[in-house]
Amino acid sequence: MPLVESYDVRKEFEGGVVILSLDTEQIWGYLDQMNEAQFRIRYPDALGAHEKVLACLSNAGVSATWFIVGGMALRGSDGARDVRMAGLPAEWTAKIPGGVEATTPLWYRHSFVERLRKARPFQEIGLHGGLTHLIWTDAAATRDVVKQELAEGVKALEQASVRPISFSYGREQEAYHELLPAHGIRCYRGRTATRAFQLGPTLRGKLARLLDELRRSTPPPVWPQETLPGLWNIPSSLFLYPIGAARTRVVGLQSRIDRFSRGLAAAARLRGIFHFSLHPENLTESRQGFSLFEDILDLLIRVRDRGDIEIMTMSEVAARMERWRERELPEPDVDAPSASLTGVSAGGPSETKSKGDIYDSPKQHSHS
Ligand SMILES: [Zn+2]
Repeated sequence: MPLVESYDVRKEFEGGVVILSLDTEQIWGYLDQMNEAQFRIRYPDALGAHEKVLACLSNAGVSATWFIVGGMALRGSDGARDVRMAGLPAEWTAKIPGGVEATTPLWYRHSFVERLRKARPFQEIGLHGGLTHLIWTDAAATRDVVKQELAEGVKALEQASVRPISFSYGREQEAYHELLPAHGIRCYRGRTATRAFQLGPTLRGKLARLLDELRRSTPPPVWPQETLPGLWNIPSSLFLYPIGAARTRVVGLQSRIDRFSRGLAAAARLRGIFHFSLHPENLTESRQGFSLFEDILDLLIRVRDRGDIEIMTMSEVAARMERWRERELPEPDVDAPSASLTGVSAGGPSETKSKGDIYDSPKQHSHS
């Protein structure tokens, strides 16, 4: 059997898989773009949106992966003067206020992390961006700065009794992949696997994303790719297209449901992963936001109950890949051509293959 066959991760998927991932950031994700007043106008009741999304998932019996900004998990901080933020770029931390959840809940939201941790069914908690949602490709984001941002982000979650195994980058800006496994991260969400998203936050990118939405383009199924030993990239297939009035005038809400449905069908047919991502606060941009989310979950449950797909979290998929590699690849082969590991790459660093550690079900280990 040619070697390439034994590297085909697609064989590990007997049917379609769906991952729902949520970037959970409150105002941390916007700290360089808007102040609190602007944030409240743009996303009315963003805090309530997190609770509603969790309630919808619990009612539907669906497990999702919540990527949380570390700072949100803190009980409070001294803001820019906080020792945990010392060493991060001053122009970045200058916008972070000191406080606790009772005074500054748009920043500190320890109680929500607690609710998430105790929710049933299991909701995975990963890390989003680090401690402060720093953008890792920013000119000020040196390796040392990013190392601290990541280490303090992991620590903040650990203090909330969460051991993060999965990670998503702020604004999909991938960098310093090698730091992730060193901090216990086994998988990350790579940039959305379509040309429109590869173009990033440019005008061409915006137009391409609009065109994809107008055409109801099918979101591509993805397969995990081991970008570094023990680090799996599971890119997004689709990000929820914004639902504010400016966008829905051009492309009505129904396209979001149509594309979700197409993504499900493609993953089931090709036995891949449909990885759907959104920000909870984006659902507040339209009065129909939550009924849209419920419609999406209804579709998902119907397809799951038919047996066409299974719903997994990020670290569950990574654990499956680790088990697969232990079984299929008894010896590391660093000379193997990188293209032989079938997957959708989001342009990570060079690929090397080696034996990694195996770990048990994340349900037992990720949230102690
Ligand atoms: Zn973000």
